[in-house]
Amino acid sequence: MKSSLKTKLALTYALVAIISILMISLMTNVFLEKQFKEYTIENQENKNKELADLISKQYSDNENWNYKSIESIGINALEQGLIIKLSDNSGKVIWDAATHNNGLCKQMIDHIENNMTKYYGNSSGKYEEKLYTVHNNNNKIGNLQIGYYGPFYYSDNDIEFINTLNKLLLGVGMLALFFAVLLGLFMAKMLSNPISRVVKAAQNIANGFYNNKITEKSETAEIDLLISTINNLAETLENQKNLRKRMSADIAHELRTPLATLQSHLEAMIDGIWKPSTERLESCHEESLRINRLIGDLENLAEYESENYKLSKVKYDIYDQIKKIIYNFQADFKNKGININLNGKREIVFADKDKISQVIINLISNSLKYTPKDGNVEIIIDKSDKEIIIKIKDTGRGISSEDLPYIFERFYRVDKSRNRLTGGAGIGLTIAKAIVNFHKGNIAVKSNLGKGTEFTVLLPKGI
Ligand code: ADP
Repeated sequence: MKSSLKTKLALTYALVAIISILMISLMTNVFLEKQFKEYTIENQENKNKELADLISKQYSDNENWNYKSIESIGINALEQGLIIKLSDNSGKVIWDAATHNNGLCKQMIDHIENNMTKYYGNSSGKYEEKLYTVHNNNNKIGNLQIGYYGPFYYSDNDIEFINTLNKLLLGVGMLALFFAVLLGLFMAKMLSNPISRVVKAAQNIANGFYNNKITEKSETAEIDLLISTINNLAETLENQKNLRKRMSADIAHELRTPLATLQSHLEAMIDGIWKPSTERLESCHEESLRINRLIGDLENLAEYESENYKLSKVKYDIYDQIKKIIYNFQADFKNKGININLNGKREIVFADKDKISQVIINLISNSLKYTPKDGNVEIIIDKSDKEIIIKIKDTGRGISSEDLPYIFERFYRVDKSRNRLTGGAGIGLTIAKAIVNFHKGNIAVKSNLGKGTEFTVLLPKGI
């Protein structure tokens, strides 16, 4: 099952918190435990020595033990879990906790064993006894046997301290977990809210509402990038939609005009209004040729834009090819009073000769169409490391910066009235671009309204 970003982030934060808390608790426990154990063992040894020292002070110089004090020391020690037995040098027992109160001794040891088993299980330790010598003025005066639960034991106070520490750790852990989940939810909200809005906008775009741009900004760089990408996508789709709409209208218009002329001519001849003269039939024929040309262009375009179109590439001299094309155009240029020049030298390209010829013809015929009398057209052939460069520069009417991005689109014409005299169907550049792209080349345009246009065709040498 797919879970939301919110849930995932909150769970991740919680998991990280739990792992951190567990690790901290574990490490604190292990570390503290070790330190506490060492401290307790050391403390026990000190206590034992202090006890032996205290006992030695209960011996007066006239070689008498202070039985009363020794008994009170012994009872006190017993209350702390230490069972002492004092004997003099001859082995005579001066005071023995077991004799004094055997029941209490057993009870104390059982109580400690109980506490320790709770913590460490049965292998925690056992009752052990240690022997200390008792001195008076550097002379040995007896032996003190101290029995206790070893190697170390925790008193009731120690256990209470450990329990409080554990409770504190648990409390801090719970608090950290609570804040981690809270922070996780907050972060998730910060991330998922803009994403949800982007998703909504993308859904709107998918449904064709390209105007629903996302206006908000996000503090997260990736989300901001996603928003601008979606907005760009919407804009591109909007442009495409408008171009498509225009294209259908343009095709209809391009077909309707010659068909209407053809229809009215034929009707007039059928109704006997016009006599079917050669001139009139020729005019009809011209219109039908015009329709045919348009359909042929569309067919070619579809072919060039299909993925499996095959080029028949050969090595040939592009300078020579362009020279011949110019030669064929010479009369038209002369009639319109435009100068045409070719600069460059012999360059070998590896390309589909017919198709490249079509590109050059389309570009030169455009410069002829859109350059007024006394203008200049210059064609330059050059090369770079990897490409052959063909530039077609004219001093014609130029193209505005608003129209420039669209002139390679199908049926796009700067003159929206689609006046016959000022241009063709608006497919010439689309075909040129498709052919150049097929050669893995590039076609670009620079233009200055009222001053002129420069088309640059780059063809990979590829030899
Ligand atoms: P068309 O058949 O209308 O010439 P193209 O695809 O060849 O179609 O060109 C598209 C449009 O680009 C033209 O309608 C024209 O407005 C503009 N154009 C192309 N070449 C030039 C040029 N050399 N100078 C000015 N405008 C040009």
